[in-house]
Amino acid sequence: MIISRRSFLKLAGSAAAVGAVSGCATSGSRGAGGHVVVVGGGFGGAACAKYIRYFDPSVKVTLVDAALSNYYTCPFSNLVLAGDMKMDEIKVSFEALKNKHGVTLVEDHVDGVDADARIVKLKSGKTLSYDRLVLSPGIQLNYEKIAGYSKAVSKKLPHAWKAGAQTVTLRKQLEAMPDGGTFLMIAPPNPYRCPPGPYERACMVADYFKRHKPKSKVVILDPKDKFSKQGLFVEAWDTLYPGMVDWVSPERGGVVASVDAASMTVKTKDGDTIKADVINVIPPMQAGKIVTASGLADDKGWAPVNQRSFESSKAKNIYVIGDSCIAGPVPKSGYGANSEAKVAASAIVQSLNDAELIVPKWVNTCYSYVSAQDAISVAGVYELDAEGKIIEVKGSGGVSAKGGKNWKAEAVYAKGWYEGIRDDTWG
Ligand SMILES: Cc1cc2nc3c(=O)[nH]c(=O)nc-3n(C[C@H](O)[C@H](O)[C@H](O)COP(=O)(O)OP(=O)(O)OC[C@H]3O[C@@H](n4cnc5c(N)ncnc54)[C@H](O)[C@@H]3O)c2cc1C
Repeated sequence: MIISRRSFLKLAGSAAAVGAVSGCATSGSRGAGGHVVVVGGGFGGAACAKYIRYFDPSVKVTLVDAALSNYYTCPFSNLVLAGDMKMDEIKVSFEALKNKHGVTLVEDHVDGVDADARIVKLKSGKTLSYDRLVLSPGIQLNYEKIAGYSKAVSKKLPHAWKAGAQTVTLRKQLEAMPDGGTFLMIAPPNPYRCPPGPYERACMVADYFKRHKPKSKVVILDPKDKFSKQGLFVEAWDTLYPGMVDWVSPERGGVVASVDAASMTVKTKDGDTIKADVINVIPPMQAGKIVTASGLADDKGWAPVNQRSFESSKAKNIYVIGDSCIAGPVPKSGYGANSEAKVAASAIVQSLNDAELIVPKWVNTCYSYVSAQDAISVAGVYELDAEGKIIEVKGSGGVSAKGGKNWKAEAVYAKGWYEGIRDDTWG
């Protein structure tokens, strides 16, 4: 069968839209070429770089990340905290992007974007010019939104919301904590990276305590009235860790006023002072700094985009994906970022080839471990409505059944998901 370039691009695009592409052709398409610079080698950026090369090998792709030799995945980092996995197991290699897919790798920090001149400025003093730019820098943490907290204080009161050194610090603090101590987590307000993440962390810390420090407690101070997979998490706390986990809603005084690293205390807006042995502060967050500094965010700190292509609503030829962008109901997850990356990759190749944009669909599944052997999940499928906004497909997705019957099987699926998405993104 002879496939014209136009139909190849359509085919490639529709495959991308369902979030997982197998056996894509890497040759046969001879497109218009061009240079795409991708900033950020995480779930969004790496997948986008790889899939642009899949869809059109004539396009040169340069991936810039400040942490190319040190990228650790946040997924499964809560298992590292519990001592069930090692840091090495969540570390990612970029070799296949370079050697298998022909992506040019640059380890550097992007300090600025000149959208008119189509140039990115690197910390090393070099510049890179682009035809299309993809920004997938993840999140920046707004430390100063919590009185007493700062980047410096986070060395003592870790957030561990970017996997790496912070994960190691928090793990060491849990190991050093006495039996009978208190682990206190300050959960973030919406929207934030990985909606079920704080509650998975509470489970995994409780699981570690149950095995090693059974008199200890987990307290979650939360500014939100409800959270992702709440019924399932509460069921897990009640059945697996009875009396150990205390989720403090705003109504019960969960809103934090300040933290004090010297006395290891947290003051709530209701006037209570809580002392803890380990304090895990997950502060409010917004789009990665390069996005906000480049004027691509809205007044809430996230990047509005054309939801069919992920091109910025504020600058032409710049695409924002992953945690930084506003993708409607698609959660800020690694799976979501990977799914958005393929849609953006397709849109970029279509635009470089003057071809029509595909009509995408997105998928997301977030697994959360509730113990080392049990997991729960939430899944969704998304499409565009008549106005071009992403909406959840009616009747799609849902959450795991209550009662714990499938939790062991879901823990196995979760491992499979992790291996699969790592391979799809960086392999
Ligand atoms: C505890 C926890 C558990 C999680 N579990 C899951 C899960 O089970 N499933 C799931 O799907 N998601 C999970 N997530 C969410 C997931 O980690 C994020 O949604 C995902 O990493 C977002 O991808 P991204 O590409 O937007 O950003 P990232 O993966 O954070 O990548 C951003 C990259 O950009 C680089 N960068 C930033 N700015 C610059 C710059 N100016 N110059 C150069 N490089 C730059 C950074 O070094 C980084 O490597 C979890 C998150 C947490 C915190």
